[in-house]
Amino acid sequence: MKENGSAFRCCEELNGKDEPIAMKEIGVEFCFTANRRQLLATALIGCLATVVAPPVSVAKEHREKRMKMVENDIAGRGIRDPATLQAMRTVQRENFVPDGLHRAAYFDRPLPIGYGQTISQPYIVAFMTESLQLKPTDRVLEIGTGSGYQAAVLAEIVEEVYTIEIVEPLARSARELFKKLNCKKIHATLGDGYAGWPDKAPYDAIIVTAAASHIPPPLVEQLKPGGRMIIPVGSVMLVQHLLLIEKAEDGTVTQRSLLPVRFVPLTGGPATGK
Ligand code: SAH
Repeated sequence: MKENGSAFRCCEELNGKDEPIAMKEIGVEFCFTANRRQLLATALIGCLATVVAPPVSVAKEHREKRMKMVENDIAGRGIRDPATLQAMRTVQRENFVPDGLHRAAYFDRPLPIGYGQTISQPYIVAFMTESLQLKPTDRVLEIGTGSGYQAAVLAEIVEEVYTIEIVEPLARSARELFKKLNCKKIHATLGDGYAGWPDKAPYDAIIVTAAASHIPPPLVEQLKPGGRMIIPVGSVMLVQHLLLIEKAEDGTVTQRSLLPVRFVPLTGGPATGK
């Protein structure tokens, strides 16, 4: 990342400019924690700012907001893992939100990315990342690529990230974005993540970023002994729980609930065969 003065890394700045990225249409469904009026005002200011603000100052402003967000909403709320904090300081979330919402990129809340889906709240991204206790040599599977932001955060920490998205236009735009940002450690595919990605298994860690009604057995199978999986489980309408699943060296699987959460639903699975 150029900002840190270090070598080329995944999700670098876009030529140092705040170049707008053609992402997806904004869906009609706003996420539950978003204040509609604030988001609308922000989107309008964002559109104006893209026209009038010089790119360098916009990039600087984003950086300042990012550092502040990590300090207040991530470290300030108890995230301690240095690798997770560094990744959150590095990945430019504005690249992963739709054009009109750049100004809202560093609000600690989910934002709509089109097709009824959302980019997760930064605190939740950090919490899930930290919970996986990642090592630099790890290979991680993500179910629910969405905007690609969580995958980019993981790619700052581990060796390889495999990510699956079931909505075709989202899978396509995320792949294009990873290519544009030179995210070489991220391997993205279109498909039903319920079945995992058996060809690349086993994984040191698995992260599911959509709520499942139960823990998909194929994902447990594809976890290495000693591996960890984080997954929101529960009803779409009611509360869900973020579960940490651990597979011991002898293959024994244990689970514990870490946090009540609300995610978009995991679709596909055995019922639809999609
Ligand atoms: N990790 C994403 C969050 C995306 S929201 C980010 O950082 O932006 C959850 C995503 O999971 C949505 O894009 C949704 O389309 C996708 N999804 C839902 N069910 C899925 C399934 N069975 N397989 C793969 N992706 C799925």
